[in-house]
Amino acid sequence: MSTKVNKIGVLTSGGDSPGMNAAIRAVVRTGIYYGLEVFGIMRGYSGIIEDDMFQMSSRSVANIIQRGGTILKTARCKEFYNEEGRKKAFANLQKRGINGLVVIGGDGSFTGAYKLSKEFGIPCIGIPGTIDKDLYGTDFTLGFDTAANTAVQSIDKIRDTADSHDRLFIVEVMGRHAGYIALHSGIATGAEHILMPEVNTTIEEIISSLSEQEKRKKLVNLVIVAEGYMPDPSNPKIKGANEVARLLEERLKGLEIRVTILGHIQRGGPPSCIDRLIASRMGYHAVESLLEGRYNVMVGILNNNMHYTPLEIAIREKQKMGEDWLDIVKILAS
Ligand code: ADP
Repeated sequence: MSTKVNKIGVLTSGGDSPGMNAAIRAVVRTGIYYGLEVFGIMRGYSGIIEDDMFQMSSRSVANIIQRGGTILKTARCKEFYNEEGRKKAFANLQKRGINGLVVIGGDGSFTGAYKLSKEFGIPCIGIPGTIDKDLYGTDFTLGFDTAANTAVQSIDKIRDTADSHDRLFIVEVMGRHAGYIALHSGIATGAEHILMPEVNTTIEEIISSLSEQEKRKKLVNLVIVAEGYMPDPSNPKIKGANEVARLLEERLKGLEIRVTILGHIQRGGPPSCIDRLIASRMGYHAVESLLEGRYNVMVGILNNNMHYTPLEIAIREKQKMGEDWLDIVKILAS
């Protein structure tokens, strides 16, 4: 697209995460500062296909920086997976003269943005909005810090009871494909075991480490499990905290285990200071990027510098978990 970007749309897509509102606010206010018209698009890609969008003003994003969720709502839009749906979306963008798009979401949302840019030439910028943190090309994703802190606060409370009763407590945190919430909250709460989809830990390994600890009279045992952890990856149906508890109880007769599944409590709530800051910074740079003609990239922060990853790479690659973390878990839980 050769015309200069002067009318942009902003949407949130996929799972909501705390900090999305702060990012919307930054996009709207930066856009208006530079003289752009900014349209809020409702419910992710559904709002483009259904032409459900409205012009935003600086005032329309007042008093939202501290709110979790997203004022633009989010949705999974099936129609957008098909070229027909994207054609409809493009026609609506064209009708309104929108010639730039900021998509706040995860890798699925970026795949949609990448296709829209490739098929119809709409310049797109992605802002990483996911509590899972697993996106490539950024040290931060909106909502991860808040979700990890929520998990830490909840696990601290559970540990008090675990400590008082000498029981084994298993806590499941979010993370269907990524173990970052489990890793961070587990290390921060001093958990004895952290089970994640990225690391192949067998039930036998947990059992032998539990009996090791018993010999050393270490009685409190807190196990943090990411929801996508599978004790046996060849059997993907068996996963999560309840299955870990079942397998341990089968093997260690008489062991008392309590399972807590934190669930959706981790997704909402006021964003942490860090999430508000990175949302503001990424929102500002997303608009700058569109104005500078740096299109079809995901805005990220690496080593405190802005980093722009082409959408097609952001979609394909995953953030790698530092191996030192796994050593830290092992050594500090001893
Ligand atoms: P996330 O962005 O959090 O990874 P999803 O994977 O659910 O969440 O994707 C959000 C939305 O992005 C989908 O509902 C769909 O509208 C769009 N999307 C995802 N994957 C694709 C794809 N392969 N092609 C086109 N659109 C996609």
